[in-house]
Amino acid sequence: MNIILLGPPGAGKGTQAQRLVERHGMRQLSTGDMLRAAVKAGTPVGLRAKAVMERGELVSDAIVSALIGEELDAMPPGQGAIFDGYPRTAAQAEALDVLLEGRGRHLDRVIELEVDEDALVDRITGRFTCATCGKGYHDKFEQPKLPGTCDRCGGHEFKRRPDDNAETVRTRLAEYRAKTAPILPIYEARGIVWRVDGMAPLDAVTAEIERIVGDEAAAERG
Ligand code: ADP
Ligand code: ADP
Ligand code: ZN
Repeated sequence: MNIILLGPPGAGKGTQAQRLVERHGMRQLSTGDMLRAAVKAGTPVGLRAKAVMERGELVSDAIVSALIGEELDAMPPGQGAIFDGYPRTAAQAEALDVLLEGRGRHLDRVIELEVDEDALVDRITGRFTCATCGKGYHDKFEQPKLPGTCDRCGGHEFKRRPDDNAETVRTRLAEYRAKTAPILPIYEARGIVWRVDGMAPLDAVTAEIERIVGDEAAAERG
């Protein structure tokens, strides 16, 4: 089972991907996370991507598709993939088809998280993650159950992304509208797009996604 979570920055892709990983043992392939790791490690890719990401623009198609290819190669063939934040352009969508086909995989579902743009700045400026395990949280919508302690790993350190500010969010949204939203028709033509109301409470969104992927994922797991 290979699925794409599609939606603008702050739509809830990362949060829902983490939940799918926990429930179904699928693997989250987030190009944003891969790029941030590359920036942190100071690799050649990271050095090229850093300033682009800080501006909220898109990193080159060749770079992100290469990262996805490497991650797919490292996965057991039977493990399902959740593409989070990839593809973001028509060229990436084409590259993904080739990458999957070359590895005997195919795309099962594209789940579009529909959200009001007005809500996104709030979502993004309130977002933070556990510095130890990466679990996502939000100042208003998903705080750790015990203040200052990560629900998942018990860590006490949290971090915020430098690009999660109101100004950069506007650039990221413009990029989404101009380059990413236009890839939906490619998948609509294949009849694999499912729409989910991303404005619903977190658990309701999870339940809806579960309805869409749950049975198949459970069957694969055996
Ligand atoms: P994306 O990966 O699409 O950029 P995230 O999953 O990181 O988005 O979500 C952005 C922020 O909004 C996070 O802090 C998350 O906790 C919060 N969030 C996600 N989905 C919802 C929701 N349905 N309702 C309220 N807050 C949400
Ligand atoms: P969000 O889902 O909140 O928009 P991501 O973590 O997916 O954020 O991406 C953060 C930044 O990393 C993007 O603004 C962009 O600069 C870069 N990036 C991530 N994925 C891609 C991609 N598939 N193509 C080009 N740039 C990407
Ligand atoms: Zn943690």
